[in-house]
Amino acid sequence: MTRIAIYPGSFDPVTRGHEDIIRRSLRFVDRLVVAAAAQPTKKPLFSVEERIELLQTVLKGVAGVEIRSFDGLLANFADTVGAEIVVRGLRAVSDFEYEFQMALMNRKLKHELETVFLVPALHLTFLSSSLVREVAGFGGDVSELVDPAVDAALRVKLGG
Ligand code: ADP
Repeated sequence: MTRIAIYPGSFDPVTRGHEDIIRRSLRFVDRLVVAAAAQPTKKPLFSVEERIELLQTVLKGVAGVEIRSFDGLLANFADTVGAEIVVRGLRAVSDFEYEFQMALMNRKLKHELETVFLVPALHLTFLSSSLVREVAGFGGDVSELVDPAVDAALRVKLGG
């Protein structure tokens, strides 16, 4: 049986933290659908096309990964791609409440959908896309936190 999981997020932009979670997931799933929310709750810096393009560049050559965008309910999109597992990353206690609510809601919407939480490498636990955007926006060096392609895209976008 092919085990398919979905890793949803804004990926605005993809960071080393996301990459870490993706690689860890691939140890126990056969196929991972990385799903960029077309309309994340906050207005994104990068368009969905740009976020997808960056994900494709960063994850080029990583076997078992498929990159898609999605709109609407995650539970419905999970059906579309045949996923039975949702992967999410947990960094700090602050992530917990929202993630817990989402996991329970997704289970209510689709009974068989199981959410799995993964913890990144210690040095990546402080990292978020919003922090990367903020630091890069003020001209700070984020080269260790993101792939070089993302670093370059941030410079173009923010005029750094
Ligand atoms: P969302 O808007 O859905 O939170 P994000 O792109 O910010 O989208 O995050 C997607 C998922 O990746 C979330 O589960 C988040 O907790 C996780 N994540 C983001 N950054 C990291 C990181 N540095 N370490 C572990 N998980 C992370």
